[in-house]
Amino acid sequence: MAFDSLTEKLQNVFKNLRSKGRLTEADVQEALKEIKRALLAADVNFKVVKDFIKTVQERAVGQDVMNGLNPGQMVIKIVNEELCNLMGSETTEIKLQPGSAITVIMMAGLQGAGKTTTTAKLAGKFKLKGKKPLLVACDVYRPAAIKQLQINGEKQGVEVFTMGDNHKPANIAKAAIEHAQKNGNNLVILDTAGRLHIDEDMMAELEEIKNTVTVHQTILVIDAMTGQDAVNVAKEFDEKIGVDGVIVTKLDGDTRGGAALSVKAVTGKPILYVGMGEKLSDLEQFYPDRMANRILG
Ligand code: GDP
Repeated sequence: MAFDSLTEKLQNVFKNLRSKGRLTEADVQEALKEIKRALLAADVNFKVVKDFIKTVQERAVGQDVMNGLNPGQMVIKIVNEELCNLMGSETTEIKLQPGSAITVIMMAGLQGAGKTTTTAKLAGKFKLKGKKPLLVACDVYRPAAIKQLQINGEKQGVEVFTMGDNHKPANIAKAAIEHAQKNGNNLVILDTAGRLHIDEDMMAELEEIKNTVTVHQTILVIDAMTGQDAVNVAKEFDEKIGVDGVIVTKLDGDTRGGAALSVKAVTGKPILYVGMGEKLSDLEQFYPDRMANRILG
């Protein structure tokens, strides 16, 4: 999974630290240099790494041995805490409208990021929590995307609303919400069209949806395999259409994990869930502390 190589490198640094009885300032500097190298190799954003190391350094230097920890353990503890802070420190839930009011979620992201799959995965999660989701096929450019949503919706036992590929996405969204009102669905998830790259048409289409219906949560799906590109994409989406939270997919892949580590620091938007496989059950709520522990191994 992602982070394997980072974990191995960090464990080596920590093993070195632990093997020393007392740490000199030079030992700590050397360890920090190695941690910095490991994070950069994991494709974490350069500025994020720089700030991270600075914070760890400030905390580590000049601290006496406390709470029964030796200096090596203390550095490890600080790195753990700061990794957790980097990823947002707390778990962020998708905000739902109170009571039986309908919540409208718009899924956005580049083509291939995993939007349609994640839409169905999310629907399954909410169904388990007692919601009655309606999935909406707003990707009118790829008939295969509509079919894919229908197949995945069926697997999840969740209704899918489509109007084919002959209507504007904003109008499909509007009709879907009217359908949800009549049908008792309290969660509407719009699966929108992606493109291979960010382009004006895609952004205009998402904006039109937002101007036509009330979207309560805009969730961006990014692909961990694309590393820092994914983080830049997130920044651009947020600046153009406004994003409430991010889902990082394909963290099960042979990736370096940098996107998951940088996206919160670069965009200020929390990671809500992570995709850990192709199966519809492979979506995990994101716990920064657990992820930090996993990274440290
Ligand atoms: P979309 O174009 O953004 O709607 O992307 P899709 O939902 O069609 O997904 C593109 C590909 O990525 C599909 O083959 C999915 O099975 C795969 N995929 C999506 N999420 C994950 C994930 O978390 N892990 C892995 N390994 N594959 C994923």
